Amino acid sequence: MTLPPNQPVRSFAPGSPERASLIAELARQRANPRRVLPVINGKKVDTGTSTDMREPHAHANSLGTYASAGAPEAQAAITAAIDARHDWSRMDTAARRAVFLRAAELLAGPFNDRLLAATMLAQSKTAFQSEIDASCELIDFLRFNVAFAEQIEAMQPLSSPAERNRLEHRPLDGFVFAAAPFNFTAIAGNLAIAPALMGNTVVWKPSERAVYSAAFLMDLFEAAGLPPGVINMLPAETPAAIGDTVFSSPHLAGVHFTGSTAAFDRIWQTVGSNVSRYRSYPRLVGETGGKDFVFAHVSADVDALVTALVRGAFDYQGQKCSAASRAYIPLSLWKPVTERLAEIVSSLTMGNVSDLTNFMGAVIDQRAYTQISAFLDHAASAPGHRKIAGAAPSDETGWFIPPTVIACTDPKSRIMTEEIFGPVLGLYAYPDGKLAETLALVDQSTPYALTGAIFAQDQAVINQLSLALRDSAGNFYINDKPTGAVVGRQPFGGGRRSGTNDKAGSPFNLLRWSSPRTVKETF
Ligand code: GLU
Repeated sequence: MTLPPNQPVRSFAPGSPERASLIAELARQRANPRRVLPVINGKKVDTGTSTDMREPHAHANSLGTYASAGAPEAQAAITAAIDARHDWSRMDTAARRAVFLRAAELLAGPFNDRLLAATMLAQSKTAFQSEIDASCELIDFLRFNVAFAEQIEAMQPLSSPAERNRLEHRPLDGFVFAAAPFNFTAIAGNLAIAPALMGNTVVWKPSERAVYSAAFLMDLFEAAGLPPGVINMLPAETPAAIGDTVFSSPHLAGVHFTGSTAAFDRIWQTVGSNVSRYRSYPRLVGETGGKDFVFAHVSADVDALVTALVRGAFDYQGQKCSAASRAYIPLSLWKPVTERLAEIVSSLTMGNVSDLTNFMGAVIDQRAYTQISAFLDHAASAPGHRKIAGAAPSDETGWFIPPTVIACTDPKSRIMTEEIFGPVLGLYAYPDGKLAETLALVDQSTPYALTGAIFAQDQAVINQLSLALRDSAGNFYINDKPTGAVVGRQPFGGGRRSGTNDKAGSPFNLLRWSSPRTVKETF
């Protein structure tokens, strides 16, 4: 079985055709505010409420408003999903897959600029960050998942002349609830796409912080010919308003979640307390928080290490579960690493992403701005912290937190151990001779195990570090930044309190959305 090629990443260089058409689409969307409504059984439902959607880097600008779903819409979406399941799950698998391949073609074609621009405006992604998310990763999810589903179907048990055995990949017996984060349009899409591809029907709650781009995704599904009721979209300013209905439904058969550890804990607890109500045990698939490390050995290449720290910590303002947020540097490399880091970080540009010139945009909203600022205030006032780079935050025109590097004398400092989800990197200098103790610190000082990177040139050391940190990350990078997993190349997910490690962008994830029937037929 061959896999498709990854969607190539374009540069949007000045003078390129993709840059010109993206700029035109940004202007078009800005001039045409949207009213986003819940979509239930293919129909838009106006609940009459109105929540503003604003550009994080220019918070005076409104992209439009959305209507929030509540309990009645959640119940209607569940009913629509259960009704649609009958035909969708019995549809010829090739016909089902064709919908998603068509979506990939549309996204590579006429929908490309729409999703790119929407993600830039609503989530404050630069053109490059939007390209690797809303275009490349989402197209890859669509195409690769189809190829993985074919591989799964091809894995069949043994038969003999007297008996034929087969596995029928049925969907789960109910509906799947998909709850999405704001930080990746591709992830938001895949949370619904993966179960739907396997024949499930979905109640899909986009993040209340990224409803705008989710509405364009819903347009894409519809244009690709997804039948009504297969994916029902419920934006909700207060997620609990739909959660209560969803989690008490006897038909809940699976949860596909990406978001905070605290929110997934609540989902798990709620599902646990309702377990006897359900017709089947719901599958719980979650990708949650991270406090991702970069560990440098004395043999590390300093330039490669610093580049990885800058890109890993500050791409998309550090708002990736995979972002590098704590680094362990040997004392003998401390001076060259911190000097180089300070030099590069102070030269990074930040501003309105529509300019297509800045390296960074704003953080998602006021809540994020306040939470991240509180960590910076803590580092400024608590002893044992020294700022190596980072200007003052500003919320005048947008939610801007400059990239910040903080040296911490205590490796257990909050900056080194708590998830900040913003452009803040903690550094700790360890004595060169204390390798084993420092590796234990890397492994033990946070509850998470999502991503991590090591930098070393010596192969024996690389093996030693890889083994010592075997349980510390689900995505482990040797001499590269810990972010930027590519579908089909680095299946993504972590363990411990970072999630169920069901590897988005791989057959492992799709298998969670199948409840196979084993059929034995004798002759
Ligand atoms: N898959 C993304 C990466 O590798 C991170 C996903 C997330 O932040 O949830 O950078």
